[in-house]
Amino acid sequence: SMTSPVKTVNPFNNEILREFDILTDEQIDQKIELADLAFQSWRKTPKAKRAQLLHAVAKILRSRKVELGKLATLEMGKLLKESIAEVLLCADIFDYYADNGERFLADHPLDTKMGSAFLSYEPIGVLLSIQPWNFPFYQITRSAAPNLMAGNTMLLKHASNVPQCAQIMEDIFEEAGAPAGVYQNLFIPGSSIDKLVADKRIKAVTLTGSEPAGASIASAAGKNVKKSTLELGGSDALIVLNDANIEQAAEAAVRGRIWNAGQVCVSPKRVIVEAGIADAFLEVVKAKFQALVVGDPLDEKTDLAPLSSEKAVQDVIRQVEKAVFGGARLVYGGHRIDRPGAFMEPTILTDIQPDNVVYQQEVFGPVFMLYKVKNEQEAITLANATEFGLGGSVFSTNEARAVNVARQIDTGMVYINHVTGIAPELPFGGTKHSGYGREQSPAGIYEFVNAKLIRVT
Ligand code: NAP
Repeated sequence: SMTSPVKTVNPFNNEILREFDILTDEQIDQKIELADLAFQSWRKTPKAKRAQLLHAVAKILRSRKVELGKLATLEMGKLLKESIAEVLLCADIFDYYADNGERFLADHPLDTKMGSAFLSYEPIGVLLSIQPWNFPFYQITRSAAPNLMAGNTMLLKHASNVPQCAQIMEDIFEEAGAPAGVYQNLFIPGSSIDKLVADKRIKAVTLTGSEPAGASIASAAGKNVKKSTLELGGSDALIVLNDANIEQAAEAAVRGRIWNAGQVCVSPKRVIVEAGIADAFLEVVKAKFQALVVGDPLDEKTDLAPLSSEKAVQDVIRQVEKAVFGGARLVYGGHRIDRPGAFMEPTILTDIQPDNVVYQQEVFGPVFMLYKVKNEQEAITLANATEFGLGGSVFSTNEARAVNVARQIDTGMVYINHVTGIAPELPFGGTKHSGYGREQSPAGIYEFVNAKLIRVT
């Protein structure tokens, strides 16, 4: 219908391309029933066979990377080269769990004086996975790959603005040979989730998204005594120490901040620079911003893509305006770009005081909050001064010094001389209000299994 919240709107030109009907309560019930039924046989399916499915999905993703990449770009606006890289990353994550899953899930012997004992890792059932639009394929993959490998089945509720990516992943699983019900897509609004979380056939829930959505899901799960994992927002600090390579740090910061038009949970949103090099650093960043090519995300030459929607760009512009009203200094950009589509100038704010509302906010667009600090200790204190605790980076030519600073940052991930990144074998996740739980790496496969003790006399 024309009122469905589930639709494709191309943010490059704001054209509505497709709308999808949302599921009726009866259809939702049938899908949960099918997922539960599929679990009864999927849990008994040999791990080598589950791995085969994951490898088959990886193969399809690689062979269709351009088509799938274009779909992501069409729905949420990111650069085609980023979309294609995302599809390839997903293939790597599927292969990683296919190659290593059986080993991760092998019985784990325990030292005990009471006879012998081991842990048996067993799947728990149907999982509900709720995901955001900023990495339409990767967000699905990092919850689906480990959990299907572990023997769980999955219902996906994707963000309402990426329905075609959501649907095509279900199609790919089917093409790869997934038994009916092992992986299903649900077209439903976020507001209807609480009822699903309460459903007895759904055993746990994982959400990536904003803090309010996370808090709401976690309380629904808690009320029903179900486990949840949350990957929420971030306002990562990128600390540039006075012995850093300024060019290297500025290049990483700029690339990290315009990645996905600034809409990445681990983008370096706050840049914290030691005073001695702060002015030089700012000049390099400005020059790099000046040189960015803005345009069609399908064009190979484009550096800066539109934001994901008209609302997204308006929200970020308003946030910048409020920051300036609150005393911040706008030293670069800050406005819409005068052309059709959800484009915004790369932006730099300085002089942000703790009483400015933006100090504690996540800015989900190409905006740097730049802070000048007196010394390393002040940098660490400032890095830890938000409620978020997702990732972060430290730039320095002295590795021991950088690692020492990294240890004092309260986040789930810190990268030295690199922006916070993503790799199948490395854990991803946060602490504080950025959520709890880990995805990817060996850790990602243990979140939703029953580590059952079996003890033999
Ligand atoms: P959002 O509004 O929270 O949406 C995320 C997902 O949750 C969507 O599928 C959405 O569905 C659903 N949802 C919204 N409200 C809900 C509710 N009350 N109950 C249940 N589900 C609900 O997030 P967003 O603002 O679009 O996404 C950006 C946020 O995600 C940022 O804060 C970003 O930092 C964070 N993020 C975090 C990570 C990470 O790994 N930590 C990765 C990527 C993004 P509808 O679309 O239908 O509303």
